[in-house]
Amino acid sequence: MLLSDKFGRAITDLRISITDHCNYKCVYCRTGNEGALYGDLPFADYLRMTRVLAGLGVKKVRLTGGEPLLRKGIVGFVRDLSQLRSADGEPLEIALTTNGHLLAEMAQPLKGAGLHRVTVSMDAVDPERFARITRVPNGYANVLAGVRAAKRAGLEPVKVNCVLLRGFNEDQIIPFGKFARDEGVVLRFIEFMPLEEDRVWSPDVVVPLDEILTRMVEFRPLVEIPHAHSETARRYRFDDGIGEIGIIAPVTHPFCGHCSRIRITSDGKIRTCLFSVWDHDLYAQIRRGATDAQLEQFIRGVIQKKEARHHIGEPDFVPASRTMVHIGG
Ligand code: SAM
Repeated sequence: MLLSDKFGRAITDLRISITDHCNYKCVYCRTGNEGALYGDLPFADYLRMTRVLAGLGVKKVRLTGGEPLLRKGIVGFVRDLSQLRSADGEPLEIALTTNGHLLAEMAQPLKGAGLHRVTVSMDAVDPERFARITRVPNGYANVLAGVRAAKRAGLEPVKVNCVLLRGFNEDQIIPFGKFARDEGVVLRFIEFMPLEEDRVWSPDVVVPLDEILTRMVEFRPLVEIPHAHSETARRYRFDDGIGEIGIIAPVTHPFCGHCSRIRITSDGKIRTCLFSVWDHDLYAQIRRGATDAQLEQFIRGVIQKKEARHHIGEPDFVPASRTMVHIGG
């Protein structure tokens, strides 16, 4: 039987963090003092976990981190993933989330190995601002080259994710709209969630969906694109048909009722929600010599513990046991 949780949500999407290391120190994500906190596993272990999960209904796998392109051997890993089949015999959809710093050289080899799509995180389209946010000099040129290389390699649609923080980069909304049109990328604004190392989150820092739309419409009218309930983003196209933007609004418009995701951390723990206060040690099962059938049984038990929803902004909110950079966004 395929995986679904006790609320009837089918589990079809897997995100794997393949390293806890990152070469950026984005101010809202990492304090700058904390580097990698957790180890990582041989690719063979992630591959086995994915194979077992694919047999249980997972259809999409997204590689993330840390920064996944820092991990040597990622191209071979993508090639091995591309050989796996879902429960209905189809190849898995393989995607990558990256800061793009190393993407220019890797886009084509990754495509050749079987990667389908890439999402690049960028929180400013102004090089100086970009450097202040990432705390890495001259990153912007590399990331732009990475976005363009991904397009040339056919890793389409290339998506660019931008996390907006009030008083910090909200003035980038319209420049990002122009960027999406000029570069032919799909833009996704993401509301800032309380998953940062510094615990600076407050509702006032979040730039909500409605405000992003109001601001963007000052630039050009938008037309909403009908979307499936299970999609996390509300999607819009500019009135002349050039350029798409989307808004992922987990804070002001939560989509937990349609969540189809689980995550595996770099050290092999399953997380059933970004906001989980515990994780489940799948790798410990492998270390103990579990058979595939035993791994399946363990996973089925874990999925039944998937949380109904997050409690961001509520009085009973308890911070997640790991921050975003150590989970894999
Ligand atoms: N290094 C890769 C990258 O930059 O895309 C993958 C890991 S990074 C943690 C994944 C995504 O999480 C990035 O787009 C980042 O902006 C986003 N992110 C980090 N902290 C966040 C937060 N508190 N709320 C919302 N998104 C966050």
